[in-house]
Amino acid sequence: MQEKINKLIRPEIRELVAYSVPDAGNMIKLDAMENPWSWPDDMRNAWLDTLKSAEINRYPDPAARALQADMRRVMDVPDAAGVILGNGSDELIQMIIQAVAAPGRVVLAPVPTFVMYQQISQVAGMEFEAVPLQDDFSLDQDALLAAVAKCNPAVIFLAYPNNPTGNLFDADILHALLSCADGLVVIDEAYAPFTDASFMSRIGDYDNLLVLRTVSKMGLAGLRLGLLAGPPAWLEQIDKTRLPYNISVVNQLTGSFALRHADYFIGQAREIRSQRAQLLSGLQALSSLTVYPSEANFILFRTPAGRAAEIFEGLRAVGILIKNLDGSVAALRDCLRVTVGTPDENAAFLTALEPLLAGS
Ligand SMILES: *Cc1c(COP(=O)(O)O)cnc(C)c1O
Repeated sequence: MQEKINKLIRPEIRELVAYSVPDAGNMIKLDAMENPWSWPDDMRNAWLDTLKSAEINRYPDPAARALQADMRRVMDVPDAAGVILGNGSDELIQMIIQAVAAPGRVVLAPVPTFVMYQQISQVAGMEFEAVPLQDDFSLDQDALLAAVAKCNPAVIFLAYPNNPTGNLFDADILHALLSCADGLVVIDEAYAPFTDASFMSRIGDYDNLLVLRTVSKMGLAGLRLGLLAGPPAWLEQIDKTRLPYNISVVNQLTGSFALRHADYFIGQAREIRSQRAQLLSGLQALSSLTVYPSEANFILFRTPAGRAAEIFEGLRAVGILIKNLDGSVAALRDCLRVTVGTPDENAAFLTALEPLLAGS
């Protein structure tokens, strides 16, 4: 069988490592940029009442028009922009890439960044051009412009703020890229709830600017719902790669329900931002760590050389799960990433971390 598999499955697929997610069990879960709060009972009951009207025997509205209108309003999409909804923004990344995929064409992104840009490009048979970030994880403008001139990428992905580093790239460099690139420039604003920066209002200023959003990080990771906004002429083409009915009846009703409670999520994002400041100063007080600034709902930090795995395991042993990035790429050597949780979870994390650092 292995021989048949080797013959049939393309080498670039065989080389991929499947996206793996560890089982968190009952641990304090600070690994996946989730919102730590679940819904109060009255909101949960109102949601279930909404679902009672679901026409589950019928196909959903193929364009999810009601939900589209709600998303446009909550995400401040300019009236002149078009939108497409995806089953998570991952699906929209896949649709963008499928719309332009052809042998020899290039997808470009600064790295380290969100791994799905490369993963989906490889699955689609495209080349992926990785342009290293500088040591402080800022963009290297000269290297980027040179790479764009050399490869003429069909798409450039920029996570703004970036994952897993948490920082916000220099907007002037993004404008320079938008001006010089012939291909699409996708600004992925997955962490928009936790920063004031956005390119949403700039759609239309450039004919190649697309903006991605998701409801995952704001508190609806279980729903799987993302939005792509951009010039209607581009979206009309990209929409042809969408599978019909990609947003289920349950997702459309639940998404609209949740967005009617947008204030609830906006309040939580505000709380997470203030918790982020506290967690940041708690980490900075541990002098053996290098802590990176964050405009997202997580913080990246570097442990003393060679100690990331041991500290990660030490936290896990006391029931706290974060993300170990050591061993992924050289730029993230000794790096760990912690998602901002509830005040109690953050305190438990800091309390558990301190003696682990001392134990060297
Ligand atoms: C989490 C994340 C996404 C994926 O969001 P989904 O809508 O849950 O698929 C996209 N881009 C970046 C940069 C992310 O960190």
